[in-house]
Amino acid sequence: PSAMALAAENVISELTQNGHEAFWVGGCIRDELLGRPVHDMDITTSAVPEEVIAIFARSIPTGLAHGTVTVLQDGQGFEVTTYRTESGYVDHRRPDHVEFVSDVKEDLRRRDFTINAICCGLGGDLIDPFGGEKDLALRVIRCVGDAEERFDEDALRMLRCVRFASVLDFSIAKNTWRGLLRQRDKLAHIAVERVRAELDRIVEGPHPRRGLAMLARCELLARGKAPFPWTGTDLATAAALTAGIGELESAHLRWALLLHALKQSAKEADELLRAWTFSGTTRICVVQVLRVREAWTAALEAVPQGEPGGTEALRRQWIAAVLAFGVEAAEGWLSLLAILPAAALSAAHPPADSEVSAAVTTPAAWIAQMPLKSLSELAVTGNELAEALGKRPGPWLGDMLSALLQATASGDLLNNKQVLLLEAKRMDGHEL
Ligand code: ATP
Ligand code: MG
Repeated sequence: PSAMALAAENVISELTQNGHEAFWVGGCIRDELLGRPVHDMDITTSAVPEEVIAIFARSIPTGLAHGTVTVLQDGQGFEVTTYRTESGYVDHRRPDHVEFVSDVKEDLRRRDFTINAICCGLGGDLIDPFGGEKDLALRVIRCVGDAEERFDEDALRMLRCVRFASVLDFSIAKNTWRGLLRQRDKLAHIAVERVRAELDRIVEGPHPRRGLAMLARCELLARGKAPFPWTGTDLATAAALTAGIGELESAHLRWALLLHALKQSAKEADELLRAWTFSGTTRICVVQVLRVREAWTAALEAVPQGEPGGTEALRRQWIAAVLAFGVEAAEGWLSLLAILPAAALSAAHPPADSEVSAAVTTPAAWIAQMPLKSLSELAVTGNELAEALGKRPGPWLGDMLSALLQATASGDLLNNKQVLLLEAKRMDGHEL
């Protein structure tokens, strides 16, 4: 057993030795039974918070009103929650009223899905009144009780439902799916951040296509608070175009791919990601990739293909894009190109397979050949330029640095201080 399991065992045995019931519950049991890694362990107990606090010297009252105490044991934290029932979900998200109860089955009944409503004690016996173990074997997400009611109580459960089905590669029970369709408008009650967090887990998970296809079918997202300017068909089309999404390691590339397939410009994507409360870091990474796409597409359209000098002109424009948006974004765009079906590159003129691979390998080779990839690597600084030219720094300086960078990165100039200073003087109109 892991260090976490041993520490949790100590918490549970301490509670039972003090005359209370205590069990592992929820996600940890589900993941353990599935043979998936367990990232945290929640404990459910008949002890009320005051009793839990009295037993454990090191505890934090994280959510007393809801019965949750975080117990620190052997350097790990465990959420220990008193058996409770919930009622009166006026806002369709949080219960207005919780009541501590003495029967663990009552506590399991308030939980969202059968696979999340199993608990297990020190002896290893499962308490599973709603058939969670059977549903794990059937690989199905099923609400505890009446699905429509459960989604009406807490609308976030609808997205959790799709998220679990996607991440675990499960199906959704018929009644549960029907309940979701009936209650889908209630997603409007859920904070954008919560929706985005679930969506993130779908997109970052091992089977994003599964979740996206389900979201396309139920048209849930269009009912949320955040702008979602697509129909289920748009999303289904995008999901089909992004068949290779699961091969991308990074979450921001997955989002970039999806937004590309949803035909978003860099600017539209930027606004959307803001409205969806993505972190600034993620948003910028995604948008830079889409900017590279825009620069590259414009270059492909502007440069006459197959004409003398065409390839060289294209190479220079590609290098300009790499310098403007960064190597990481440029390589990110190439990894999207590599998994996009040919039809997604140009709907009008889908290129042949050989052209598709050249479309990725050629610009990748151009990046590899660049002698330097950013301003910080340039052998001359702005101050040195200003001094050599005897001028005050101003907007001209940035333009000159970019021109020198473009020239050295394209291989026209050596990245050497003397060479660059000479070129700067020439550009500035000085006598050589
Ligand atoms: P993971 O942590 O991997 O998302 P989890 O099942 O542990 O999975 P948590 O959100 O940590 O999910 O919740 C712990 C448990 O609390 C769940 O297993 C479930 O029993 C219950 N639960 C969580 N959210 C809800 C909800 N919105 N409605 C009903 N029960 C819930
Ligand atoms: Mg959890």
